[in-house]
Amino acid sequence: MQLLDPFTLYFLLMATLLLLSLLLLLMGLVHRQERSLRFWGISGLLGVGGVLLLLARELLSPWLGVIAANSLLFASLAGCWLGIVEFQQRPLPWRQAWALWGGCSLLWVLLLFYGDTALRSQLYGLIYLLFAALALYQLLCDPAHRRRGSYRLVGGIILLLMLSYSYRTYHMLLHPVLNPLRNTGLPLQQLLASLLEFAKTLGLLYLVFERMQQGLQQLAMLDALTGLHNRRAFEQQATATLLHDGHHRHALLVMDLDLFKRINDGHGHQAGDAALQHFASLLAAQLPAGSISGRLGGEEFVALLRDTSSSQAWQVAEAIRSQLAANWIGLPDKPAFQVTTSIGLAMRHHRQQTLAALYHDADMALYDAKQRGRNQVCSSRPLVAVPAAE
Ligand code: GH3
Ligand code: MG
Ligand code: MG
Repeated sequence: MQLLDPFTLYFLLMATLLLLSLLLLLMGLVHRQERSLRFWGISGLLGVGGVLLLLARELLSPWLGVIAANSLLFASLAGCWLGIVEFQQRPLPWRQAWALWGGCSLLWVLLLFYGDTALRSQLYGLIYLLFAALALYQLLCDPAHRRRGSYRLVGGIILLLMLSYSYRTYHMLLHPVLNPLRNTGLPLQQLLASLLEFAKTLGLLYLVFERMQQGLQQLAMLDALTGLHNRRAFEQQATATLLHDGHHRHALLVMDLDLFKRINDGHGHQAGDAALQHFASLLAAQLPAGSISGRLGGEEFVALLRDTSSSQAWQVAEAIRSQLAANWIGLPDKPAFQVTTSIGLAMRHHRQQTLAALYHDADMALYDAKQRGRNQVCSSRPLVAVPAAE
């Protein structure tokens, strides 16, 4: 039972928290946009500082060993709470945090004169519960994320910590002790709480990692210029759609801007980029809800229209083509210009047809559209009469 001596446990907790807090701070410096890491790192360091002062309090004045020590601990609890608010990208409740911290510290000054150690350690348990409840509330009040496993995990750990501190406070009310650091009579509670603090910090770190990973995944799926899906994202989503909604009829449009090289050569690369962005926003406006669109590369775009008839798909393609042809694209201080697109349309006629096969058909139709003079829609099979180009 030597290891369960509360003094040793506090020491172990302090050492692990110190290392973890330094890690959080380091990561916070590297990933500057994740400010919550710095909050939690500083919160951990303040907690370690507070415990250090408490451990040495017999050598220090009561102002340092009691008031300063507990003030640091309160600041640490507030820091963890504020870190969660920051993580949720909500406005930081600085005023409430300062008021709570100031109020608790002031209470400790009064307790130094009018209370004893037993009362202080009972009240500390209650203050811990208050800050933990605030942190838990912040974590779980986010409707978009609270159902996630990671949020539930961290919430569950905080809840266990609250249970552990409730038990500690209850026990101390029944059996007041004058030196809780040396003898709380609750070595197992101390051990559990230390482990849970450790787990909570790892859990918070995991939340940050999870979000960074999702951000990277999004970036890897996005076309930087137009904000549309890139080729990989389009292929993933379209393949999944063909697999799951196999019984529906889908249409694929492959769209290539006409004589785009001339736009770059005549108006500059910046104008070419503006035309690509313009076309992407036109696609977003014209495609029916539920369509999957993307930029395959260069000036080639693609869209999968779900559960659609051939005449509906034709109308959509024709609307995209005619809208683009009717628009003028302008850049400040540059002459406005127009751009057109050729569109190949293919319908998925049977369930076995893969995305690659559908793309091949639509690409052949696009080739036809280019051959026939551009600025027109062609289909891989005759759907309706192909109108003449304007
Ligand atoms: P066609 O009607 O036969 O498709 O002729 P085109 O000029 O559009 O076709 P081509 O493939 O010869 O030229 C495509 C041009 O698209 C060449 C390239 O400079 C330009 N391009 C590709 N990606 C980008 C981009 O991200 N931005 C800009 N501004 N231009 C791009
Ligand atoms: Mg082109
Ligand atoms: Mg092209």
